[in-house]
Amino acid sequence: MQYYNNEISQKYPKLLEYFSGGITDENKNISHCLLFWGPDITSQCELALEVARLLNCSEDKSQNCNCLNCRWVKEQTHPAVKIYTRLDFKEAGGSSDDDDSTKGKKNINIGQAKAIINELAVTSDYHRVYIFCDRDEDGNLLPLNQMNFPEATSNALLKTFEEPPKNTTFIFLTKDKSDVISTVVSRAQAFFVSGVLEEDLDYSLVEGVLDNYWTIARNDVLDFENNLLKLVVENEPKEILTQIQNYMLATIKSNLENKHLYYRLMEDLGYVEDAKRQISLTPAMNLQTVVENLSFKMILK
Ligand SMILES: [Zn+2]
Repeated sequence: MQYYNNEISQKYPKLLEYFSGGITDENKNISHCLLFWGPDITSQCELALEVARLLNCSEDKSQNCNCLNCRWVKEQTHPAVKIYTRLDFKEAGGSSDDDDSTKGKKNINIGQAKAIINELAVTSDYHRVYIFCDRDEDGNLLPLNQMNFPEATSNALLKTFEEPPKNTTFIFLTKDKSDVISTVVSRAQAFFVSGVLEEDLDYSLVEGVLDNYWTIARNDVLDFENNLLKLVVENEPKEILTQIQNYMLATIKSNLENKHLYYRLMEDLGYVEDAKRQISLTPAMNLQTVVENLSFKMILK
């Protein structure tokens, strides 16, 4: 299955600006363990492949670069860039302790973990990128969870995740951070990947209430909550929450240099995603409770 997307930099301009900045600038550096989370696993994989391309490009890293590394990543034939799922692995020689066939294979097992460790023991000329996720038999990408990426496997790889060899990056694709073993999450830099396009973000309905909300004093949290509740009650709640995320994404985009604000907003994006989930439940959570929780998380840092 082909997952590389030529339009990816238009889809996530701000995230890619962040990654290419970190990859190009010697002092910035991006973490060697990245965790992408959000509703859209295919977009996460496209983003991960683009990060892999930026890490391996031997020329100017532009979107239409035609160097060998870029061509390989785009064709998904790069020898050091791998999408790793429970189904994309053949046991060497059909060892007896693990399934030698992928049919019905339930998880990324210890055999795969060992194979990765052995592979990393050999030096590589390339920047190795392992993208961990799940897929079904038809190639549809699915998020990691504790079933398909069990604790035993992550424990076997923990030391590797902690101190990988030079030029190695691990990327985990998941719906929610709590779906991945906490020891992995704590070692990874987490990025929320929204399911919507970052361009043309509309936040006209929420702008007034959200304006520089990170400067709102803790004492004023109830005012903020009331204003937000009014918005949510008078409009379509989900649209308001999406606009709040849009406002956050746009703010991140125009404040890329402010690391502190960046992390705060990335965290808040996740809280809004939680709120969206809570109002979509059947039965849905009480709207006021959802807004109260969200307001307290956003203001009382
Ligand atoms: Zn290139």
